Amino acid sequence: MARLVLNADEIAGEIKKRNAKKVLLQAPAGLKRKIVKIIPKLEKDTKAKIFFAANSCFGACDIPLGEIETARPDLILHIGHAKMLNRKNVVYFPLSYEFTSAEKKRILGVLLKKLKKVGLKRVSGVASIQYIGLLKWLAKESKKHGLNIVVKKGKSGIAGHVLGCETSAASSNTKKIVFVGDGIFHALGIVKNEGKDVLALNPLSCSAQWLGLENLYEMQKKHNALLLKAQQAERFGIVISSKPGQYNESLALEAKKILEDNGKKAIIIVADDITEQALIDFSLDCYVIIACPRLADDLPNWKVPAISFEELLLLFGNDRKTT
Ligand code: SF4
Repeated sequence: MARLVLNADEIAGEIKKRNAKKVLLQAPAGLKRKIVKIIPKLEKDTKAKIFFAANSCFGACDIPLGEIETARPDLILHIGHAKMLNRKNVVYFPLSYEFTSAEKKRILGVLLKKLKKVGLKRVSGVASIQYIGLLKWLAKESKKHGLNIVVKKGKSGIAGHVLGCETSAASSNTKKIVFVGDGIFHALGIVKNEGKDVLALNPLSCSAQWLGLENLYEMQKKHNALLLKAQQAERFGIVISSKPGQYNESLALEAKKILEDNGKKAIIIVADDITEQALIDFSLDCYVIIACPRLADDLPNWKVPAISFEELLLLFGNDRKTT
């Protein structure tokens, strides 16, 4: 069965290389229980004091500033994501899935079958960081079956690597795109940004599904109902994420000005984790969320009306262009 490789010796090596005496570990939810198991070994091998951040960690943009300020570690190890931010003493430690040969062949079989069905011989290939190795292998093996998977570097500098909010590696002149990863979060982001169909190949379930603009239209219908509510709202909360890779104060101030110019009332709210529960107590008519761009996809499912900055511009931006 595929397994995420968490190599305690490599992590200990990283700590020793930097001669760190106090280390703050940070990881996304799904990894926390695995990391807990290696902490005694890290402490024994490195003699460093190890602290583990409990706060949520949704992406590489999310560095635990509060814990850093309080605990003052000399090394912060962000485990599970590839490097995104340049921060003093913060080291990213991405992880990869390992597959047996039989598993890899099965995954390749699913991919070839899906693409053969639509007669494609050339596609772009991208993956989330944990599957970059598998993507490379698929690209190499596919050639033997007459399929060309184009893998190019995007902004992260790693060939084929995409984030939920950064999909430039998927931009190319191919008609369709293959995304290798679990879940459809990244794949939908690519559909949105590239306007092309994406085959979401999930190596863990060994399955694949096509996602396209029709999936986005479904989501858009829910957004339209929300826009009507937002248009009639009088009191707004502009919610700005305090996560270092998401914090955008100037956009929040701009949103406030746009609303006030349109005769609305607006206050700015700062939050680490932006959830509907955190906003209910403010009891405002509508919220404008300035945070991870992909959070916008969830907003129609919230109990409180909330829109993105782009939607605010559509409603009240007048002559200002959407970004
Ligand atoms: S902004 Fe959102 S999609 Fe981008 S890295 Fe952060 S959590 Fe992931």
